[in-house]
Amino acid sequence: MNWRIPLSDIDFGPEETSAVLNVLESRWLTMGGVTQAFEGEFSAYVGAKYSLAVANCTAALHMACLAIDLHPGDEVILPALTFVATANAIRYTGAMPVFADVTSENNLNISPESIEQHITPRTRAIIVVHYGGYPCDMPRIMDIAKKHKLYVIEDDAHAIGSELDGIKLGNWGDLSCFSFFSNKNMTTGEGGMVTTNDDGFAKKLSLFRSHGMTSMTWDRHKGHAWSYDVVELGYNYRIDEIRAALGRVQLGKLEANNVRRRSLVKQYREALQELVPEVIAPFENHPGISSAHIMPILLPDGTDRTCFMENMKAQGIQTSIHYPPIHHFTAYQEITNSVLPVTENVVEREVTLPLYPLMKDEDVVLIAKTIWEVLH
Ligand SMILES: *Cc1c(COP(=O)(O)O)cnc(C)c1O
Repeated sequence: MNWRIPLSDIDFGPEETSAVLNVLESRWLTMGGVTQAFEGEFSAYVGAKYSLAVANCTAALHMACLAIDLHPGDEVILPALTFVATANAIRYTGAMPVFADVTSENNLNISPESIEQHITPRTRAIIVVHYGGYPCDMPRIMDIAKKHKLYVIEDDAHAIGSELDGIKLGNWGDLSCFSFFSNKNMTTGEGGMVTTNDDGFAKKLSLFRSHGMTSMTWDRHKGHAWSYDVVELGYNYRIDEIRAALGRVQLGKLEANNVRRRSLVKQYREALQELVPEVIAPFENHPGISSAHIMPILLPDGTDRTCFMENMKAQGIQTSIHYPPIHHFTAYQEITNSVLPVTENVVEREVTLPLYPLMKDEDVVLIAKTIWEVLH
């Protein structure tokens, strides 16, 4: 499909190309010096003590669940309004996902009250998802976690560069997971990062990432080791130097791109308020600074969403849905009987509009006008 305005687009230029070529010419492709540099830069940016680059955010989430030692019989509370990977990572350990509701039409993040209602003696952890990059109520969620002795994992796939109370997201929970998938705020194609400020977790994560081995191919190449022991059941969740090189360039562009995203969101809010006030643009006046990963709207109650999206498509404007909620999926129907009234309401009405740094101001106005035409 040749969209007039696509849902998202990457910001790649000659810098990315030459970074990749430099790696190819160096003849060292697996995790090594470039990955270490990327991790160091990422730690400095987020403010976390340890950053481990991995194959994708799903691997990061799985490693985080392993680090807190989840087992069959454990429960983990998370929103149903997220990408399925958030819940799958819990299930990889045999633990059970328990879905909490989101807060309101204006706040699509997990509700602290609903978290408290779902805590049982089996609850071990909470996974928060900062929807669209808008911070969850971390002060309250961390209080709840402390009171009930629960771990907190942040799914920061949307939230790279977001802040709350002057603290970057990725620093609130015990462990945080980022995605560099192609449609995220910075991309390496496939890729992810897990961060922590805890020495013990960092040690475990580095074992899980690479087969539980005590030394790496890179260490042996550098002459630091001849052999290794395997001390854990680990995985191969490594990134490679090509992706790490892309990550370093993309991280350098992130801050400016997030500023541009926030400016586009502000223009969207103004245009929608003026032209189609019956459409809700959630996260109005939300606390903190958002990475503005996506632009969700809620259509008026009773609007035929499929028809709306078809009409937008006919005008060359790509839209999407974030998300079909996890508890509606066939693979999840058996393990939950969640009652989530706010989630049920918003998932029928949510549509995601195009948002990416290279989008033009005029595109926002055109989209808002098209929404008016489609709804009237
Ligand atoms: C993209 C995404 C993931 C998965 O990231 P991958 O890097 O593709 O594994 C997990 N959670 C959320 C909320 C996401 O948006």
